[in-house]
Amino acid sequence: MKDIVKRSWVEISLNQIKRNYQIYRDNIPDNKQIMAVVKADAYGHGDVEVAQALSKIGVNNWAVSNIDEACRLRMAGIVGQILVLGYTPFEQARRLFDYDITQTILSEEYAELMSNCGYKIKAQFAIDTGMNRIGVDADNPSECVTIIRRYKDIYELTGIFTHLCVADTDNPESVEFTNIQIKKFEAVASLISDLELPYIHCLNSAGGIWHNSDMSCLVRLGIVLYGLKPDYTNIIPEGIKPALEWKSVISMVKPVHIGETIGYGRTYIATREMKVATIPTGYADGYNRLLSNRGYVLLHGKKASIVGRVCMDQFMVDVTDISEAKAFDEVVLIGRCQGEIYSADDMAEMIDTIGYEIVCNISKRVPRIYIEKN
Ligand SMILES: *Cc1c(COP(=O)(O)O)cnc(C)c1O
Repeated sequence: MKDIVKRSWVEISLNQIKRNYQIYRDNIPDNKQIMAVVKADAYGHGDVEVAQALSKIGVNNWAVSNIDEACRLRMAGIVGQILVLGYTPFEQARRLFDYDITQTILSEEYAELMSNCGYKIKAQFAIDTGMNRIGVDADNPSECVTIIRRYKDIYELTGIFTHLCVADTDNPESVEFTNIQIKKFEAVASLISDLELPYIHCLNSAGGIWHNSDMSCLVRLGIVLYGLKPDYTNIIPEGIKPALEWKSVISMVKPVHIGETIGYGRTYIATREMKVATIPTGYADGYNRLLSNRGYVLLHGKKASIVGRVCMDQFMVDVTDISEAKAFDEVVLIGRCQGEIYSADDMAEMIDTIGYEIVCNISKRVPRIYIEKN
């Protein structure tokens, strides 16, 4: 299998994802369920594969971003609640009903729109407690509750939720902001306690570890499931590790002489006699172009710096000091190589983004290989 794809590929350990789930579980109160967030193809890890693996250890709540992701899970035989966290066009309402998908109600206007669809769909209201993205405004709890009650029988209403926007940050203002978000959410939840909605929830990965709300029946667990950190500075529970490694090979090795330049735009100039290796992975594979002249790969347990710009399908690295480096050697773009580790979080830090974006952006062109046999 590996031989066929040996250009640029991702290796995923579903066992590590299961371990991450178990360790996370052990770090939160027993009475909370986990909703596995498998949107964006499970952050690039393969939504069906991840959901099937987690189903086997008892997970049966899922969150996705859109109706297509939701239907794909259902068609693959995934059972349990599937919550669409974002916008579904009115024209797609029938699929929500047919596939037994729960839709987030984004606003009062959206509640009204979807109420005309002709199906009694399952729904949960998003409550905006300060992120200003989606949701009915919690600042005026009674008005918020009036809206929820107006639609409680038009939809099969199963819950309400909010989203925390700085739960991964531990400075006092952020902690205070998160506490306020949770209080606002609880105020709304208290006013509708008589409805006995089964799903009241407000915690993401970060919220579940560093904050709490007794009212939240579940944690929507995304990034930590995949072994990455919400924020680079976070310390996550021991044993939680990245489940994904991205590998490629050296397609050729050549000398580059002093004074010559490398790649588009001639942005790198050799200041010594160099040995340069070409890697057949590029930004069309999701390898970020901002890593040009900045990032590195691992090979033979050593770091090889990117020289010149990352191209669409290839980039070059400096292997002058890695005497063992030769054509067709395996290289690690993300992952571990002997003693060295270069994680998606490390890569993200280098180009001022987050690990989420790094793994989500690994393109469809890169095959995913599940490394355990079972
Ligand atoms: C993506 C998302 C999550 C998961 O967030 P993580 O930081 O990956 O745990 C939870 N809730 C909502 C509403 C989301 O959009």
